[in-house]
Amino acid sequence: MNDSPKIILITGASSGIGAATAQRLAAAGHHVVLGARRLDRLAALTATIRAGGGSAEHLALDVTNQESVHSFVQEAHRRHGRVDVLVNNAGVMPLSRLDALRVDEWDQMIDVNLRGTLHGIAAVLPLMKAQRSGHVINVSSTLGHDVVPSSAVYSATKFAVKALSEGLRKEQQDIRVTVISPSFTESELNTLGGDPDTMAWVRTMADKLNMPASSVADAIAYVIDQPVAIDVNEVIIRPLVEA
Ligand code: NDP
Repeated sequence: MNDSPKIILITGASSGIGAATAQRLAAAGHHVVLGARRLDRLAALTATIRAGGGSAEHLALDVTNQESVHSFVQEAHRRHGRVDVLVNNAGVMPLSRLDALRVDEWDQMIDVNLRGTLHGIAAVLPLMKAQRSGHVINVSSTLGHDVVPSSAVYSATKFAVKALSEGLRKEQQDIRVTVISPSFTESELNTLGGDPDTMAWVRTMADKLNMPASSVADAIAYVIDQPVAIDVNEVIIRPLVEA
């Protein structure tokens, strides 16, 4: 039994890191509110968590739509009277070289990875300020620290997530802000879009290097369960063989 269970909202909870994080945090006794577009996935995960004795619910969420993110957060707040943690995790990674001019996919990465994170911050900031407490966890990437050929736009969105997080942390005294920067992690991230040759290379690397999503979930659980006066600013996590 967790003696300080929190109300934790997770975006992109229908697969990969978000789903693993939901399971990890629910197992630690927190209540998780799952958001994503694939409601069938969320319903199955909610049922699994509840069957294991955890506490979970899910709501439809499209992070590219400010109204959708606002409704997601407001509904969780209406039901529980507070929002302790927002995990801004939803993301997409259709990698390609800039000269491939896959401009629609650039826009998609900006809309989900950057605008989606901003929408999450906009939705929780007034509530957390009023509570005089809260924790915003933004999932960036090791590609938020480094740029490789084909990662320019994805890296730009993830560098931006780091910048936003730094700004939020420096502006707010009562709100904890953490950046989680994983490297190759088991998920569905490399299955959608991008240049086919680049993505095939990413999948080959992922087969060699992938960390389990539960390792990233463990890092998120660690930062949440620190004493409230302790703010872990960033966790960078990679497979040892890559280092
Ligand atoms: P997955 O593809 O497995 O999960 C991505 C999640 O984002 C899904 O739940 C998806 O849900 C959700 N999502 C995508 N678009 C939207 C949208 N418009 N609105 C709401 N949810 C959306 O990948 P990961 O678990 O790997 O990705 C999670 C985060 O981790 C991302 O930010 C990613 O950039 C980051 N990351 C991943 C790494 C890896 O190697 N896997 C490494 C470094 C960082 P749905 O489609 O149902 O809406």
